[in-house]
Amino acid sequence: RAKSSSKGVVRFFEPEMDVQVSNRRSLEMDMRNADVASQFEAHFQPILSVQSGKLCGFEALMRWRHPTRGMVSPAEFIPIAEETGQIDRLGRWMLREACVQAASWPDPLMVAVNVSPVQFRSGGLFEAIEDALRLSGLAPSRLEVEITESVLLADSAANLGLLRQLRDHGVRIALDDFGTGYSSLHYLKQFPFNRLKIDRSFVREIDNSPESLAIVRAIIGLGASLGIDTTAEGVETTTQLERLRAEQCGELQGFLFSPPVAPGNVADIIGEFFGER
Ligand code: C2E
Ligand code: MG
Ligand code: MG
Ligand code: MG
Repeated sequence: RAKSSSKGVVRFFEPEMDVQVSNRRSLEMDMRNADVASQFEAHFQPILSVQSGKLCGFEALMRWRHPTRGMVSPAEFIPIAEETGQIDRLGRWMLREACVQAASWPDPLMVAVNVSPVQFRSGGLFEAIEDALRLSGLAPSRLEVEITESVLLADSAANLGLLRQLRDHGVRIALDDFGTGYSSLHYLKQFPFNRLKIDRSFVREIDNSPESLAIVRAIIGLGASLGIDTTAEGVETTTQLERLRAEQCGELQGFLFSPPVAPGNVADIIGEFFGER
């Protein structure tokens, strides 16, 4: 029934592009056929207080342990999941997994979960979050949902409504990759976010680019005057840490302290902070 067959179609793809396309097709198919719980994992990266060094919680980051390819990066598979609609299924699983894990951590520790704009569009996101909280028994105040401004760019009235509903339910909302979008400041007026996550691209340059330092300082100042917490992403060096401390940044995550770790290693990190009980 397909109208275009390969016969008689002028081929303008380079061979490498063919490889890319078929690689993508095969990932798409593998994803569709995958049993999520057995191939996908939530890894967790600790988030620390810049001033006190205390552990605040973890960001959950999805990993795909592909049966033949090994670990596939989210940078590669999340866009595919979004375009094929598989993100709904993966995202629902991730919310549950992250909340179930977090419910086993000491009480003040939080979990942050990334949610795609596509999950907002498909409907059922509020219910998926409610389900994850109910199933895990995690207090809503210990869950933080991370969104990017693309959520507010698309269908903003409906999505703002959903964000308000979540906030009224007690869930915290963070604006991820702050500073990389088009009109982030506009969104701060529309929605009272609980947290701004300063994009890694600014943090990386904080020591050698006066512009990046100025931007980080401005974001922290903006957060302080609006009563919004700020977290620096991608902190890799002690000089970056010192700088963030001097600028009164709230929290940090980055390879300096720890990369994202498998759930089995979370307890060790928690143990370092909370000691043996
Ligand atoms: P993100 O939410 O901004 O997550 C932060 C990314 O920075 C993670 O990459 C993390 O491993 C990485 N990172 C943290 N500290 C450092 C550091 O010090 N240096 C460097 N070079 N990188 C650092 P990851 O895990 O590869 O995830 C990439 C992106 O994929 C995430 O960016 C997020 O946008 C998306 N993603 C990951 N998991 C999920 C998920 O469950 N759902 C959705 N919708 N998106 C996800
Ligand atoms: Mg994030
Ligand atoms: Mg980010
Ligand atoms: Mg990012």
